[in-house]
Amino acid sequence: MLTIDGSRGEGGGQVLRTSLALSVATRTPIVIENIRAGRKKPGLLRQHLTAVEAARVISGARVEGASLGSRRVTFAPGDVRPGTYEFAIGSGGSALLVAQTVLPPLLTASAPSTITVVGGTHNPMAPPFEFFERAFLGCVNRQGPEVHAVLERPGFMVAGGGRVQVHVKPAASLDGFELLDAGARVRREARVLIAGLPPSVGSRELRALVDGLDLRADEGRVDEVNAVGIGNAIVCTLEHEHVTEVFSAFGERGVRAEAVAGRLVRDVRSYLAAGAPVGRRLADQLLIPLALAGGGAFRTGPLSKHTKTNMTVIRDFLPVDFDVEDDDGATRITVKAASPGKE
Ligand code: AMP
Repeated sequence: MLTIDGSRGEGGGQVLRTSLALSVATRTPIVIENIRAGRKKPGLLRQHLTAVEAARVISGARVEGASLGSRRVTFAPGDVRPGTYEFAIGSGGSALLVAQTVLPPLLTASAPSTITVVGGTHNPMAPPFEFFERAFLGCVNRQGPEVHAVLERPGFMVAGGGRVQVHVKPAASLDGFELLDAGARVRREARVLIAGLPPSVGSRELRALVDGLDLRADEGRVDEVNAVGIGNAIVCTLEHEHVTEVFSAFGERGVRAEAVAGRLVRDVRSYLAAGAPVGRRLADQLLIPLALAGGGAFRTGPLSKHTKTNMTVIRDFLPVDFDVEDDDGATRITVKAASPGKE
């Protein structure tokens, strides 16, 4: 049984989710200790508990310690069981993070799957639906499988109630890819989602985005959406020839609309200034599919703690190495087979 220390590096939910995904994909029994030790409220929250449950169901795993607040889980998976599943988080916790936990093993399963997750679809500190669909799946779909996501209903913190469906047509194996340049710009889109809040919040955010990013009028819009409770998210999609990146910011009580938009403008500008196709968030999320493929490379900006931590967790499960080099002012990450004899 492989022991994973959940307090390592970033010490967040990602250590748990990566471990679950790769435990199922490689059929490795694990015990995860000190779960989310680096967070204010350590242990399993609803989103993490649902991720454990989802991983259990798709692999017939034997599980101990899966309860709210638990800091230690043992997880012994069986064979991957593709199929049609629905998982409800029961809070506004991120539906996309749960989907990302079960997706890796389903990408090369013996039959298609449809996964529905009920929870938050536009959450701070998690991939919003559009990022998952356009940025993350945009890359995964180059690897052989065909994965298609549908936003059935948006859900915001704290009420949740959003619904995402993910259809997976697996491939026999995953191909690697190289993503070294974004290529020419194809499209820009800034979309403000607003539920149960005064329309002026949306229009002020949009104005700040149009000014801050120099957008044409037809590149931005406000969508008033139906959701349980209130919510506000801004999602900016930058589609280039070789990659689509998605940036987001979330309205918060007590934070001015202009300040929320300002955060997103800064994020987009720093992505464009870095001159690398893969942004900070996408970088940590591409490591699992590329490691499962056994090879590939991409250019990104400075590495986040999430990216560095994810590399260490992945190396515990898979015989891969990550080369990290400076590349013309950016960082190039190359995923390759581990050299023989190396732990
Ligand atoms: P953790 O903080 O350990 O639960 O991990 C959060 C995960 O969500 C990481 O993979 C982040 O890259 C991802 N993430 C957080 N914020 C965003 C965002 N705005 N867009 C896309 N992904 C995000």
